[in-house]
Amino acid sequence: MEGRGLFDLEGHVAVVTGGSRGIGLGYAKGLARHGACVAIWARDQDRINDAVGQLHELGAKAEGFVCEVSEEDQVVAQTQATIERFGKIDSLFANAGVGVPSRFVDMSVDLWNQVMAVNLVGPFLCFREAAKHMIDRGEGGKLIATASIGANFGSPMQEHYSASKAGVMALVRGLSVELARYDIQANAILPGWIETDMTTGARSWEKFDQAVLHRTPARRWGGPADLEAVAVYLASASSRFHTGDVLVVDGGYSIF
Ligand code: NAP
Repeated sequence: MEGRGLFDLEGHVAVVTGGSRGIGLGYAKGLARHGACVAIWARDQDRINDAVGQLHELGAKAEGFVCEVSEEDQVVAQTQATIERFGKIDSLFANAGVGVPSRFVDMSVDLWNQVMAVNLVGPFLCFREAAKHMIDRGEGGKLIATASIGANFGSPMQEHYSASKAGVMALVRGLSVELARYDIQANAILPGWIETDMTTGARSWEKFDQAVLHRTPARRWGGPADLEAVAVYLASASSRFHTGDVLVVDGGYSIF
């Protein structure tokens, strides 16, 4: 569309898991502003409705779908429901994630599995169902995961979370090779410290807040709006030769 140039998403259909708030809503707003139809997948219907309302205010077509991403039958059903509603899926952002800190020596198998189920099994299921559809349709597609600096840097109390995010990075690298022949690109976005509900506790701890600010050259926490542009780029046709990568958006945190 005129004015959007390289990043025109008119007619594009994007699914954003965990798109009802935080980083996922940031992705969704960027996609919506560039013409995409957006399907929001999350668990809480009220928050989904609120997010869909915000996307409608931007003039976008958007709809919410209640989905627990770690449940195979729900992912299969909502993939079909999204395709029935919008006709296709061009990009899937596997972004829903949870962080539940625990001392490592107290970490139960249940907690480990709970975090893995949402952060790693979820992206696996969502990508698998989207990839089947994209291959059948034969017009390519985009698979994008949300990773974390926890995958690259030691993060105490978050070994389960960090392992899940390292797994997601390995997942997209494998997909980028296996699915390249179908013109499907797979990448991960690696946000730095972002102001969302997930980091409310961390931000309220002054010592931690100061440590983040000290180490981040941008000298601020990021916001969901800082992730809009990278989502648009990775969904757009302009990134067709960009695959198997991890795009770091962290205000410079990683260079220290
Ligand atoms: P957030 O504000 O807590 O939002 C999480 C989103 O995921 C919500 O929409 C939530 O909606 C949804 N969700 C959670 N569990 C789900 C499940 N089992 N099934 C379906 N949807 C689920 O978190 P955020 O900070 O935006 O995080 C988004 C992603 O970025 C996560 O993968 C996180 O690990 C990653 N990340 C965050 C940061 C940061 O600093 N914030 C940094 C790096 C990476 P419902 O609760 O309604 O389901």
